[in-house]
Amino acid sequence: MFGRAPRRSDNTKYYEVLGVSKSASQDELKKAYRKAAIKNHPDKGGDPEKFKELAQAYEVLSDPEKREIYDQYGEDALKEGMGGAGASHNPFDIFESFFGGGAFGGGGSSRGRRQKQGEDVVHSLKVSLEDLYNGTTKKLSLSRNILCPKCKGKGSKSGTSGKCYGCQGTGMKITTRQIGLGMIQQMQHVCPECRGSGEVISERDKCPPCKGNKVTQEKKVVEVHVEKGMQHGQKIVFEGQADEAPDTITGDIVFVLQQKDHPKFKRKFDDLYIDHTLSLTEALCGFQFALTHLDGRQLLVKSNPGEIIKPGQYKAINDEGMPHHQRPFIKGRLYIQFNVEFPESGILSPDQCRKIETILPARPSKHLSEMELDDCEETTLHDVNMDEEIRRKQFQRQQEAYDEDDEPSLPGVQCAQQ
Ligand SMILES: [Zn+2]
Ligand SMILES: [Zn+2]
Repeated sequence: MFGRAPRRSDNTKYYEVLGVSKSASQDELKKAYRKAAIKNHPDKGGDPEKFKELAQAYEVLSDPEKREIYDQYGEDALKEGMGGAGASHNPFDIFESFFGGGAFGGGGSSRGRRQKQGEDVVHSLKVSLEDLYNGTTKKLSLSRNILCPKCKGKGSKSGTSGKCYGCQGTGMKITTRQIGLGMIQQMQHVCPECRGSGEVISERDKCPPCKGNKVTQEKKVVEVHVEKGMQHGQKIVFEGQADEAPDTITGDIVFVLQQKDHPKFKRKFDDLYIDHTLSLTEALCGFQFALTHLDGRQLLVKSNPGEIIKPGQYKAINDEGMPHHQRPFIKGRLYIQFNVEFPESGILSPDQCRKIETILPARPSKHLSEMELDDCEETTLHDVNMDEEIRRKQFQRQQEAYDEDDEPSLPGVQCAQQ
């Protein structure tokens, strides 16, 4: 035990600054730094010295090589350049590399150049139910901005740009105006000369293809693969394919599927629904029909012998619904709802009625006697359109409610608004 024991403070300080143990994992370090850095950020009124210490500690401990040197030889060894650390970095750079800038949503800082997040471009893509059943590829021609390939987004031939004189490179201009005796109003607005970029490119140095705009338009054909079983509203994303701009992380192109209505099939998740109308004879005596499916196959749909279909009744066919997305061999069900169309009045003679009565279940046997009939009042059945009736009644009720509103309100039930 004769070795030169390093002074305790030499290789524990960074851990103490971050408030973690010497065995802390990278994850724990990250969490500790994140928490402490936000709390002590000078923009939030924190102590700049403390903020600097945190960044320094995190910079060393998050680098396994530097951490090892620090653990063995302490802070001085790093300062002597053993880890190639050299001068410590700007604490704000470390903070921003951690949070990607704009951690407080401000973004107005003049410290260095930050990468902005570019906007996503969202298109809706109309597809038929057949497309979603079978899968398809749609080719679309889009135009987008790309960084000018000639100047690589610099905008100038020389690759440099000058500071805007109008705003001294800040992108903003402050104008003052005297509004009264000794009263001055200050107004801040985007610099018109550089349109907020803070820089100018001289006319002679402007890159010819992009005219100094840094971006040019590109026409591009994208192939959108609509997979079997995709849903209405589902998104297909082309990451980083939206408009490019200088100092900007390119956003995504997003296609949102919009399923067009189908004349025959309705879809709910992986199930399909159709309506089918039967004549009364078919409903009673049996039916069969051919149904063209979304992939063009002909399905033979038929009743079981002796089966009677009632109006509104559902039947299902397994595995003839929509394919399940990403597992297209699994399919939902196809539901058929039957309507039964009754024959028009007057086609049955009294003689035919008697014949039918011999087959169908008998009518309720109770006949009214002459006496009972004498006690009844005669009525007449009218034809009505029930939808029309309901509409008319609703309108009537609205009218009445409107009339009531016109009356002066009773004392004590007035609105409690101030
Ligand atoms: Zn250019
Ligand atoms: Zn300017």
